Amino acid sequence: MSDSLFADASRRLERALKYVSLSEDTIERLKYPKSSLIVSIPVRMDDGSLRIFQGYRVRYDDTRGPTKGGVRYHPKVSLDEVQSLAFWMTFKCAVLNLPFGGAKGGITLNPKELSKLELERLSRGYVDAIADFIGPDVDIPAPDVYTNPMIMGWMMDQYNIIKRQLSPSVVTGKPVTIGGSLGRETATATGAFFVIQTLLPKFKRIPSETTVAVQGFGNAGAELAELLWKAGYKVVAVSDSQGGIYAKQGLDIPSIRRLKDANKGIKDIYCEGSVCSNIIEHEILTNEQLLALDVDLLIPAALENQITEANVNDIKAKFVFEVANGPIDSAADLILETRGIQVIPDILVNAGGVTVSYFEWVQNRCGLYWTLEEVNQRLQHKMVEETEAIWKKSEELSVCMRTAAYVYGLHRLGAAMNAKGTRDYYVNG
Ligand code: GLU
Repeated sequence: MSDSLFADASRRLERALKYVSLSEDTIERLKYPKSSLIVSIPVRMDDGSLRIFQGYRVRYDDTRGPTKGGVRYHPKVSLDEVQSLAFWMTFKCAVLNLPFGGAKGGITLNPKELSKLELERLSRGYVDAIADFIGPDVDIPAPDVYTNPMIMGWMMDQYNIIKRQLSPSVVTGKPVTIGGSLGRETATATGAFFVIQTLLPKFKRIPSETTVAVQGFGNAGAELAELLWKAGYKVVAVSDSQGGIYAKQGLDIPSIRRLKDANKGIKDIYCEGSVCSNIIEHEILTNEQLLALDVDLLIPAALENQITEANVNDIKAKFVFEVANGPIDSAADLILETRGIQVIPDILVNAGGVTVSYFEWVQNRCGLYWTLEEVNQRLQHKMVEETEAIWKKSEELSVCMRTAAYVYGLHRLGAAMNAKGTRDYYVNG
């Protein structure tokens, strides 16, 4: 992929535009982010020195409501990446019919190098820098890669200090004790699980005869691997940034999770002499090898651009469920399609996270809190309903699930833009 991530992300939109009649105004507006903020965040480090970090917040489109999206802490965060992620959030919220537009934020850093106090000062500094850009009715941050409820709690607190008011709904994914929703931490995985369960019968498969490989053993990947394992799927391989493990007969996911928490890396878990060498015979794999496994379901749950022109011909899975945002670039996408490998897109598969964020925002605003059962029931209802609709759309138009999802989102975005008044509206009305 030679051009920017954003240019590549927009290519998906171009493919879908063929199937929707939208006004030129709408198409033109969707090509550009509404506003992008770049900030420098000075942080006093524990040794007394001062470090300046670069942060971003992009509000892509707010036609359907306040903008919504996570904040990523990662060394590769750039304006290009944040704009692409904000673009995907716009479509994700439209696909799930949430009353939100799309946004995203990020800070370029390796969070593992900072102490907890440095991380807190950085997170509060980020909110100081973007406080006029966000708000419960404007733009609502949430967790993403390497951010978590604790960081969201600091962010909410800092915003409330600045504004001298208590607005829990300015941030979602907070700890439950200060207004977070039950089920938010596991929502991305739970949502993806509902999508897989809805589609499996359409693919004429049953869990016990379905093999799965999961790339990425973070919040979403590990939880999803366990949900699939519990439902009887054969999860044969998992990996994290350090490498992976494979066992033909299936892995025991709960024990891997427990040991990963204790030992940190997946690769360390089953190594010789490790505490669980008695569990299952296994092989050690690289991430590249995991992606090339001959499995039924491949689940990239790490970062963008994992499947590109360079390795797409190695992919042997029958179905790819994108739990990460943008794990396949547009060139690889076309090749997978011609090879008959079905891809279920990120803007549907990982939308459970933002859906429960929406539930959290609703609960904060009405001051009435739901049980975990209620949250999961509502999540299931939304995920199943939209998955069925996108499946139907893909059959109706004979297009892949990704294009169907974009078409579906575009209808909602286009209708909202029209309702606010486009050129067509003035000329015809
Ligand atoms: N970061 C998550 C995503 O990419 C969740 C965003 C949110 O909850 O607002 O969908």
